[in-house]
This record gives sequence, structure tokens and C-alpha cells, in this order.
Amino acid sequence: MNKEKKILIVGGVAGGASAAARLRRLDEFAEITIIERGPDVSFANCGLPYHIGGEIQDRSKLAVQTPASLEQQLALKVRTETEATGIDRDKKTLEVRGADGATEHLPYDKLILSPGASPLKPPLPGIDLPGIHTLRNLQDMDRIKSAAAGAKRVLVIGAGFIGLEMAEQLIDLGKSVHLVELADQVLPQMDPEMTKIVEQELINRGVDLILGDGIQGFKQAESGLEAELNSGRKLAGDLVILSIGVRPESGLAKAAGLELGDRGHIKVNANLQTSDPDIYAVGDVCEGVDPILGGPAAIPLGGPANRQGRSAADHIVNGDKARPYPGSIGTAIVRVFDVATGVTGHSEKRLKQLGIDYEKTIVTDFNHASYFPGATHLTVKVLWEKESGRLLGGQVNGYDGVDKRLDVLATAIRGKLGIEDLSHLELAYAPPFGAAKDPINTAGFSGSNLRDGLTRPIYDLNDAPDVQLIDARPAQMVQLKPIPHAINIPYPELRARLGELDKSRPVVAVCALGKMSYFASRILKQHGFDVRTHVGGWKLAAPVSKPESANPPQRSNHNEMTRNPTHSSGQPVTKLDATGMACPGPIMRVRDAAAELPEGGILEVSASDAGFMTDFPAFCKANAYECLGVESEKGIVTGRLRKVAGCTVASASGPAGPAPKGTTAVVFSGELDRAMAAFVIANGAIAMGGKATLFFTFWGLNVLRKNPAPPVAGKDFMDKMFGFMLPTGPDKLPLSNMHMAGMGTAMMKQRMAAKNLPNLPGLMKSAIEGGVRLVACTMSMEAMGIKKEELIDGVELGGVAEYLGAASETHANLFI
Ligand code: FAD
Repeated sequence: MNKEKKILIVGGVAGGASAAARLRRLDEFAEITIIERGPDVSFANCGLPYHIGGEIQDRSKLAVQTPASLEQQLALKVRTETEATGIDRDKKTLEVRGADGATEHLPYDKLILSPGASPLKPPLPGIDLPGIHTLRNLQDMDRIKSAAAGAKRVLVIGAGFIGLEMAEQLIDLGKSVHLVELADQVLPQMDPEMTKIVEQELINRGVDLILGDGIQGFKQAESGLEAELNSGRKLAGDLVILSIGVRPESGLAKAAGLELGDRGHIKVNANLQTSDPDIYAVGDVCEGVDPILGGPAAIPLGGPANRQGRSAADHIVNGDKARPYPGSIGTAIVRVFDVATGVTGHSEKRLKQLGIDYEKTIVTDFNHASYFPGATHLTVKVLWEKESGRLLGGQVNGYDGVDKRLDVLATAIRGKLGIEDLSHLELAYAPPFGAAKDPINTAGFSGSNLRDGLTRPIYDLNDAPDVQLIDARPAQMVQLKPIPHAINIPYPELRARLGELDKSRPVVAVCALGKMSYFASRILKQHGFDVRTHVGGWKLAAPVSKPESANPPQRSNHNEMTRNPTHSSGQPVTKLDATGMACPGPIMRVRDAAAELPEGGILEVSASDAGFMTDFPAFCKANAYECLGVESEKGIVTGRLRKVAGCTVASASGPAGPAPKGTTAVVFSGELDRAMAAFVIANGAIAMGGKATLFFTFWGLNVLRKNPAPPVAGKDFMDKMFGFMLPTGPDKLPLSNMHMAGMGTAMMKQRMAAKNLPNLPGLMKSAIEGGVRLVACTMSMEAMGIKKEELIDGVELGGVAEYLGAASETHANLFI
């Protein structure tokens, strides 16, 4: 140890303070001096937005250390309000200017530069007007906090990490917030499909999000400020927060002739040494080497700054025995109200810019076992080098567990793992925490499937205009949110319905999240179809929408609600947990539970399907329940309804509420179009909260026949003849007109599929599930030699009394 070693550190916050503390632990005798321009050292700059918003109440908690505590605990010399103004590398002295303006030249053996980066302030008209703020230190924070107290309208310019945190906190303070971003997405360093969830959340919470528009200038208005955007739009604000990026504070280094990178950062080697080996640079000001792809990397984040400070100290004390700094990969995360998103390594955008040959996958899965209460969706995007499979980057978004998955990906990238390695990472699992197959494993499976050729991916449906688009979701899901131009064949029905597809044309399988489409594509591929899977699902590409409710959902009331067993009206509340269920599961559970309520009863239901936010009020409206509100917290949507007189919905298992009206029809015809008309009417009656009974007689029985016809014992010759000549089930029925030896019927089916109209098997399935009674006329069955075993499941046998009984309870009787 060199007792005489004099070490000067410029900048006393993240990198500087960390270097100083490590130096002292390694060298008890060195003279270590921190030179800090501001009044504070070692404060938590990452916490500044949260004190402005009041989430961190106690300001003093942001001062992790004070000059006095550093001097006392670490025997450091701390000179605050002292600015480093020049470096004489030959004499090895640092010029500093104190608060009194006096200049000194301090000698050093080693110098560490950790001056950070200053917020960008472009030379726009009006940029220096009072009321326009940037946020870097405690003084900025205090100014913004007091200005925000009297402000109603705030303009946040720039939707990077700090801009988003500020927007969130200002909304929580009850401000009206415009968030303006020049790029056409928030968090421009990420890929657009992974930031949509944040954009939707901002809009849902009442932020006026303006993307793809920049600031031209500011001017003083009669009250407050006015900002003019490139589009010509004018925004009024009482306060402006400028958060459009940072510039490295490398002026001192430049004047001293140290080597700088293209973007003005100080170049450092793996020991954090600059082009002068006695001068080190750490934190936001430095540029090292990207450990993933080589090339320059300047990462302005708290973690790298702290760890670089430590590494520089190690090298100063231990020389070449010190472990080199391994480089920064840029792992960052942000919370925006209830959602979180983050990135590690390279984004797809960046890989494209660099011309790297990569592949990717995107999977959506639950954050923990779907059956455990509170399961919410997580989306994981992973990018890897095409040839080797080595991981290059990852992004994750969702409500809960985003940080865990992002950290696993960051560790895997640092460990130079490949996409296949993710499949078998053994990650912590018990139902409250994860799943036996974690979303990270699923991303590994999906990537491995792509590499093994089990699926052929398509990422943008516009790339395949002339294909047969198969929507593999259940019909109920499709009814709520159809995919334009897609033919709905739920994947479990696909094997039986392959005949509806044209094998000579390519197929693309789609669904909302990319899972059912994968299942469908495996069936299709093994049946010889030329098929591609839409990776990630259409939800990722869905546009961000304005919420229907005028009142943005509030935070922090979910727990209160679930703890409260009675509503403020005094009515008991029935609770229903529909989390972990995919659409339409939650709505179907609501339908059944609501039907069981007494009049005036209240149902509170929680679901983790994001679509429930709009589905729930729509359900209430359609069925005349009083919607008491719908709220979202951390991905759990909670809706409450009250059953009032006039609700007409019935559960699948039986009637509820006032006597429902409905329809009865005699289905005499065995023709496709007429049978469809009967089922459309019956399904409509059920949807309106009524009952429906279809009574099948004579040729109508053909609609109910199984295909292929099962062998049935005890039939005489005529019975067999009838059975042979008559169509078996909905797929074989002819059109009533233009049948044209089957050509007309085939054309009609194709047109209906192309226009995404429901087909007869789909209508029949919905009818059975919805509670339509299908009654086969026993007298006609006898006459035509049809046995019960030949009819589809769920058909009741009945006579004319059965029909007349049902007809007497309904208000429409039809003959089809
Ligand atoms: P700083 O911590 O900025 O310290 C530099 C210090 O040097 C300053 O105090 C400055 O006054 C002083 N200085 C500059 N020039 C001189 C000079 N000539 N003489 C004397 N002193 C000088 N990162 C994350 O990873 N996660 C986050 O959530 C996160 N949130 C953030 C929120 C905010 C509001 C801000 C501002 C930053 C956030 N960051 C976050 C970034 C992180 O704080 C920085 O990357 C980190 O502080 C950089 O450390 P540094 O030592 O390089 O610079």
C-alpha cells in the first residue's frame, strides 16, 4: 500500500461515491478527496420523481450519505460546491474553484472522473423561460415539487424512463398531464410492440399521450406557458418538465486532450482507464465496449455507474490483479402505474441498424400458476444470433414478475447462453411465484421450435396478403373480438374440419396471444399444409385504444375492495375469482354467477384478462345489470354489478330473474340455409336473455345426424336405405336454392368463410353451449328409421306435447 497515494474524484454521486467507498475499504491510508459541484453527495437520483409525486414522503431518505457521514465513516475529504475546472496532465494537478470563486490546483496520483451527464436542453425559442424544468438533482426536485403544487396542467416532454416516471407521479398528484414524444412510441430504445402496454396504461390513466410530434418552442401565455408542436398543435401548461435525454459532461476531459467517442463520451478500457492511464472515467460520462457484439457502448444507468466506480477503485489499488469491468449490457426497467416494462441487451431495432442476422420470438404466459389467484399476463420477447442461437437481447412487459424475468434474461445474456438454454433453466416455482414452465422456459421452447423448424414464423400479417387466415380461438372469443378476414376454426375442431381448407393455398394460423395458433399450425403442418404461425398473436399489433369510461381507473383501491364483505349500500357482495382464465371464460362465469344473485344482490368479479375491462360493462349493458364500476390494479380487473328488476340473463344451468321470453321453432327443412336461420334465431333469443327450443322433424332431423354415421344394430332394409340416401349432419346439407349438384353449396360455404360469417357447426355448438334445447321428433325418427345413437350429443327426444309445452312459454313460434 502507498500511504502517500492521492486520489481525486470528480463527482460525488453514483460512480464517484461508489469508487470512494471501495477505495477506502481497499486502502486505509490513501488520501481520497471528492470534488462535487453541488451541495450534496451520494443522493438517490433515481428516487427524485417519487418524492415529487409523494410516494417517497421523507426527503431525507434520498440523501443516502451526507458529506459529514462520508467524512466520518470513510475518512474521506469531501469538498462540495467545488467545481473541477481543468486538468494539467503533465503536472498531475486538478484545478478546482470553490464557492467563494477561489481557484486551487490539487495534486493527484490517480484521478477518477464521474461527472455524469446533464439533461439535454435544445436551443429552442423560449427554452429558458421560468416554468421549464429539467430533473437531475435534489435542487431540481425541490423546484419542480413546489411548482407542481400550484400547477394544474403539466407538459412532460420526452417519454423515456424519466418522462414516464414523472407522468405517472404527476397524474397521481391529480394534475392534467400532456406527454409529448417525438418518436412514434414511448421508450424509443425498446421495440414498439413491447411498449404498447405502457401507452395503453398511460391513456387509461388519463395522460394525454402525443406521439410522433416534437416541440418547436415555448412562449409565455396569459396564464402559464404555451408550447407549440411540430404539427402546429398548441399546448398550455403551468409547468414543463423536459426529459428528452442526457449529454455526457465530458468538457473537462476534452479540454485535457483525453480521447472521446463519436457521441462525446470519454473512451475507457476494461479497467476504466482513459487514454491517460492515471485518469479513470466511470458512469454516464464513459464509453466502453459492448460485451455482446463489440463496438462502443455508453449506458447512462445507475447500476453500471456504481459497479464501474468499484472496478476503477479495484484497479487503482490492485493494478493488473484486479478483475476487469465486463462491460454494460443496458438492463433497464420502468413502472408506469400498474404495468412494468424493461429491456436488456439489444433491441430488435438496434440489431437491424447494426445489420445483425438475428431471430426472435415473443410469448405471452401467466406470471404464476394460472389457477392461483391473481395470475396476470407477462409478455417476453427474446432475440438471438441466427446462426449460433446466442442471446442478444430481451424485453419483458406485464403487471407482476417483469423484473424477475428481465433479470433472468440479463443473467443469461451475461452468461453467453443460447435461446435453447432458456428451455431448461430451473427457476423458482411454487404456485404463488411461478409456473412449472416459467414464461422464460416457454420463450426457450418457442425459440427452439423455430430453430428446429417445427414452426415457420410470420410476424406481420401484412407480409402474407394472399393466404388462408385461420383464427384458432374458440368461437365465443372470436365473437367478442374478431380478427378481420380470418376464418374461425377453433384448434380442437381443426382435425375434423380440414376439408374446409384449400390445401393448395398457404395458411397462416393466428390467435390473440400466439399459443392456439401454434397448436393449430402443428396440426396443419402434419397434415401437409404450407403453414406459418403468427408469432406473438394479434394483441401485440392491436392499436392502442381510448378507454370507454370517462373516469380513469384509480390505483390502490383493489385491496380495500376485496377486504370489504359488504357494499356501502349494506348489500352483501358475492365474490367471484375469474383470474387466470382466458376470454370468454370470465364473462361466462359472470353470466352464471349473476344469474344466481337475488334481486339487489351485488357481484364483484376479478379477472386477469385485459379485455374484461371493456367486456364487463358491455355485458352489464346487454343484460340490464347495473354496472357499479370496473377498475384495474396490477393487471387484475375488478368489476361490480348489481342485479336490478328487469335483468333477463339466465345461467347455462337454468333460468334466473324474471320469466324470460324466447322462441320456439319447428325445423322441418334439412337444407343448409334454413337450418342456419333456425340456429341464428335461437342463439339470438338466448343472447337476449330468453329461452329457445328447436323441434326437429322429418328432413330437419338430418341437421342433427352424426357424421360419419355410426353403425346401428336393428335396422331393416328400408331404414338402411333411408340412412344411406339422407345427408348426415350439417356439413352435408344442400342449399335450398342454387345447390347445383353441390357446387352452389360449396361456393356459399367458401364465401361465408371468407367474410368470417359463422358456419352451421359453429352456430350449433354455440346454441348447445348457450342452452338452446334441441328436440328430435320421435314420430319422425320412427318413420325415417333414425335411432338416437345417430344424433349428436345433447339432443332430447320428444313428441308434439313437448313442443307445444315449450311454445306456450315463449312469444314467437316459427316454422322453418
Ligand atoms: P451522477 O450520479 O449524475 O453524478 C455526477 C455528479 O458530478 C453530479 O452530482 C455533478 O454535480 C458532479 N459534477 C459534474 N461535473 C463536475 C465538475 N466539473 N466538478 C465537480 N462536480 C461535477 N438509472 C437507473 O439505472 N435506474 C433508474 O431508475 C434511474 N432513474 C433516474 C432518475 C432520474 C431523475 C435521474 C436524473 C437519473 C436516473 N437514473 C437511473 C440514471 C442514474 O442516476 C445515472 O446513470 C447515474 O447517477 C450516473 O452516475 P454518475 O456518477 O455518472 O453521475
